[in-house]
Amino acid sequence: MNFSKSISGLQPSATLQLTARAGELVRQGRPVVSLSAGQPDFPSPGAAHEAAARAMKEGRTRYTPTAGIPELRQAVATKTSQRRRAEYQPAEVVVSCGAKHSLSNLLMAAVNPGDKVLIPLPYWVSYPEMVKLAGGTPVFPSSGQPLITAEDVLGASSRGACGVILNSPGNPTGCVYGEKEASDLADAIASTGMWVISDDIYEDLVYTGSPSPHVLDSRPDLRSRTAIVSGVSKTFAMTGWRIGWAVAPVEWTKLATRVQEHTTSNPCSISQWASLAVISGAAEAERKAMLASFHARRDLICSLLSEVPGLDFPKPDGAFYVFAGYPKSLGIGSSELCAQLLDEADLAVIPGSAFGREHRIRLSFAASEADIRTGVQRLAAFIAKRSNR
Ligand code: PMP
Ligand code: GLU
Repeated sequence: MNFSKSISGLQPSATLQLTARAGELVRQGRPVVSLSAGQPDFPSPGAAHEAAARAMKEGRTRYTPTAGIPELRQAVATKTSQRRRAEYQPAEVVVSCGAKHSLSNLLMAAVNPGDKVLIPLPYWVSYPEMVKLAGGTPVFPSSGQPLITAEDVLGASSRGACGVILNSPGNPTGCVYGEKEASDLADAIASTGMWVISDDIYEDLVYTGSPSPHVLDSRPDLRSRTAIVSGVSKTFAMTGWRIGWAVAPVEWTKLATRVQEHTTSNPCSISQWASLAVISGAAEAERKAMLASFHARRDLICSLLSEVPGLDFPKPDGAFYVFAGYPKSLGIGSSELCAQLLDEADLAVIPGSAFGREHRIRLSFAASEADIRTGVQRLAAFIAKRSNR
């Protein structure tokens, strides 16, 4: 059989595959420590469980409107209006099967064959593949900065890019825009006419004490061509419930809904009711406790890693990742390094190559303090052994 050439050319998701492989080894009895998973290790909030049980009991188990139950669309519109200090309507919200699905729908709706879309470098593993799936061509920034800059936008626009995906706090670096960076970026975007997808899935995981600056803060006029993506996965430890959303101008949400209508229909009805409970405030105690834990773990992992000779990394102000560079003198690419770390040192981390950057690895600190300590010890011992060869 001849399979689709475009699909056969897609890369596997290294994050999902490595996390699954680490889990498989643990099931086989290997003492693997996994700092690979991009998901909170906490249980989902009790309020989510209760709302889900109630939804099942009350028979809310049929198809819902494709774009989501009106109550959840209203709650997302209200939450987004408060956060962005602007009025958003439920018609501007599409609820999907996770933020990944929201991003994919938005791209399908926006991209024409061959359209160039600027994505960050390092990028979250799925951005380039999603752009390609939608028929577009990913283009990369030239500044070498962890997040897309104003200069990157101007450069890409002059090379014909028509859209940009922003991600702050970012995966894999955990970097967060400063106010000036965000407003310069917003001015640059405004001068180009490019559309924006702002992937804000880590918006609630910020350790600076202030909200993450956003391009819409200084340029509300960008709203007519900006889509915001978020969801419950990271904020509320609800990765398996598969609920994310897009908030965008109505013409964009209508098309994204049409894509969803012909591919998946509505996201799980029960998960929608559970998500409504948590975003309406029923899980604030858990959310705050998880945030405090991530903050403490961020401090712990950064202090442990800073004592490992040869590693360097930007301090993550958000999300739950450290993207650390290791010395090229180790003479090993990141895929091979991660394979050896797993096989020889029982440590699972993600190779930088999966994010488009060599000689780096991503460590997730969505793990227990004990796992963080053991993981960093194993990494340090492995690097020391290889350096002495
Ligand atoms: N965007 C980024 C940057 C992510 O790291 C993830 C991780 N899963 C997603 C989107 C997708 O989130 P979800 O699990 O809600 O699909
Ligand atoms: N986003 C998470 C990560 O980067 C989960 C895996 C995925 O969806 O790629 O690890």
